[in-house]
Amino acid sequence: MRPHSSQTPAGAVAPPGAGLALENISHSYGAMRVLEDVNLAVQAGEIVCLLGASGSGKSTLLRIVAGLEPLQHGVVRFDGAELARPGREPPPEERRFGFVFQDHVLFPHLSVADNVAFGLRKRSPDERRERVLAQLRQVGLEAHERRYPHTLSGGEQQRVALARALAPEPAVMLLDEPFASVDSTLRRRLREDARRALRASGVPSIVVTHDAEEAMELADRIAVIDAGTIVQDDTPAAVWRKPADRFVAELFSDTGAVPGRGVAGAVETPFGRIEVAGAEIEENARYAVIARAGSVRLAASPAGDARVVDVRFLGDRHVLTLEAGGERLRALGPGEPDFAVGATVAVAFDSARVLVYRDPGSTW
Ligand code: ADP
Ligand code: MG
Repeated sequence: MRPHSSQTPAGAVAPPGAGLALENISHSYGAMRVLEDVNLAVQAGEIVCLLGASGSGKSTLLRIVAGLEPLQHGVVRFDGAELARPGREPPPEERRFGFVFQDHVLFPHLSVADNVAFGLRKRSPDERRERVLAQLRQVGLEAHERRYPHTLSGGEQQRVALARALAPEPAVMLLDEPFASVDSTLRRRLREDARRALRASGVPSIVVTHDAEEAMELADRIAVIDAGTIVQDDTPAAVWRKPADRFVAELFSDTGAVPGRGVAGAVETPFGRIEVAGAEIEENARYAVIARAGSVRLAASPAGDARVVDVRFLGDRHVLTLEAGGERLRALGPGEPDFAVGATVAVAFDSARVLVYRDPGSTW
């Protein structure tokens, strides 16, 4: 049961059923359940980010798909055909899947070119040379082909690892936190280049990350995993606009949650009363309100509820930390900050852009 290479040109329409499908995958380590009935489909040429906190089961799922961890329950399909089920699993080398892991695992005694050529031993020397150069060019390292891994930066080593994984024309690409150990200044460029290289390969790709911003930049679709369960699977825009639950909302929000209580159809909070469009607010129930970036407006007001306790200027935007009634809220705005530390402000919320969740544990 060996998947054939599906070299769909970038932008071409893949045939129906083409790609990787994980069906009803569950997994336990001893008595501990770490994956619960996971279903995930990745089309040819599509990049799906598996986004979740540390320990949520991301690596376990990837290792099962790779054949590095026994499949206990469920089925893996490739282009519609069964690839693996419990007890009927081809070993990793027969799957022809490409892997990139967090810690660059290049062969230290081989040059960059020889690392990339590693999976191409069966090709003719000419073909091997051509593919090595093409892959190095794609990740911007054609000038480094004679260097050795220890002379490269962490980001460059990850580029080589990506080129090496793509060189033998894998059927599927699996990447586990590939940029986690790369400097943040270099990570954006690396993501863009990786996205282009994965798209050009035309194969289904799964990229594991715990970083929501990274998932937004890379993915065609984001599958959010929480404690072994996929809680949402949609486009980056849809996940951002309509998070399935509070957990997802907080992953995609850097403003923090404000506690509140239902009073006369709105939520009363330390920062003032918040009307919430399209939500039934129950009298006296406890809530957590998440105010997305740009949904908070501030006005100078000596009678205001909140005090500015920190101001950070980030170039194209600024972040104010507000305090009221012992609670904190981050307010993001464009450009220069309008307020200084110590200012007293009134806070107004854009009712269409706040998210509200029941929070029975809140004591506010
Ligand atoms: P993630 O990659 O999302 O951080 P993992 O899949 O690595 O999560 O781990 C999920 C859970 O399974 C964690 O609680 C982890 O400690 C546990 N775990 C992972 N690998 C093993 C293993 N080989 N044996 C026992 N427990 C494991
Ligand atoms: Mg992991």
